[in-house]
Amino acid sequence: MIIPKNTAPKKSKLFSGNMKLSWTPYELELNHRFAISGFSRTTTPVVLTKIEYDGLEGYGEASLPPYLGETQASVIEFLKKVDMTAFPDPSHIEEIMAYVDSIAINNTAAKASIDIALHDLVGKMIGAPWYKMYGLDKTAVPDTTFTIGIDSDEVVREKTREALGRFNILKVKVGGKDDKRMIETIREVTDLPLAVDANQGWADRHEALDMILWMRENGVVMVEQPMPKSDLDNIARLTEASPIPIFADESLQRLSDVDRLRGVFSGINIKLMKCTGMHEAWKMRNLARALGMKVMMGCMTETSCAISAAAQVYPGMDFADLDGALLIGNDCFEGAALENGKIIASDRPGIGVKPVKELSFGR
Ligand code: MG
Repeated sequence: MIIPKNTAPKKSKLFSGNMKLSWTPYELELNHRFAISGFSRTTTPVVLTKIEYDGLEGYGEASLPPYLGETQASVIEFLKKVDMTAFPDPSHIEEIMAYVDSIAINNTAAKASIDIALHDLVGKMIGAPWYKMYGLDKTAVPDTTFTIGIDSDEVVREKTREALGRFNILKVKVGGKDDKRMIETIREVTDLPLAVDANQGWADRHEALDMILWMRENGVVMVEQPMPKSDLDNIARLTEASPIPIFADESLQRLSDVDRLRGVFSGINIKLMKCTGMHEAWKMRNLARALGMKVMMGCMTETSCAISAAAQVYPGMDFADLDGALLIGNDCFEGAALENGKIIASDRPGIGVKPVKELSFGR
């Protein structure tokens, strides 16, 4: 909108509607050193976003685990390029996100931080949480897994004990040399069903199938990304032979990836940080379902902001891995919460969050 300088009143109503985007970097402190096939870490950087419009505030988040290639600096650099003055109000989510997507390739977490804040804002404008606008039952959700990273037997036992009584399914990170020992160590503590994430760690299809068959005998109910992300032929044959469902994680990022994975994986793991947020997650979910595929919702280590956004979209899915905010010691939002092993959205409008710490958003 261009308003000639000499006719624009100083406190025009015309300006009151403009969206104002601001952000703040934040460092998540992990309760345990987190290890998956390849590396480990004790913190995760994030950038929290806020979009203000008409007296309302919408919150968003970009979570930046190092292996995804985005940093706080790259997110902030991206956010500085975002100019929303051309859009009349936040409800034009599709148009705004098409523009945001066009600013640069990749930067999916930065884009998600805007998408989530827009959804929060629009939900607040309408006065409803998104699960209601999607027509979903917020309680009709799968149990969330609680992730046990690759670690010493003692830490694995300790983390497993920590999960008892709170979770109904555990997620085990495998793909190393000690896969069976990880499972056996957990089995010393509990008989809970297990989901397994190999993070591309298995190189040989026949060995992978043998491992899956052994794991199934030991209560494993699904496998995530068993083999390298581009090895689709072998993954397709593994999926065909596997008695338990095989989900794509690293093999998939966005909506455009879903179709080519039909017949390769049993289902897809949708993550807001990889798919640019809720608007695309919703489409991926619906496309996968239409293609006869299973769907799960995953996450990074992130605050209750991004987890609460995921909690709006995932009712009705097959599996959930939404423990991200439960793995950190300094969550700065309150929103979706763990109830009887499930992450349940709050009844607040938008994504259902409120900050529980002083956060100094700026530009
Ligand atoms: Mg995974």
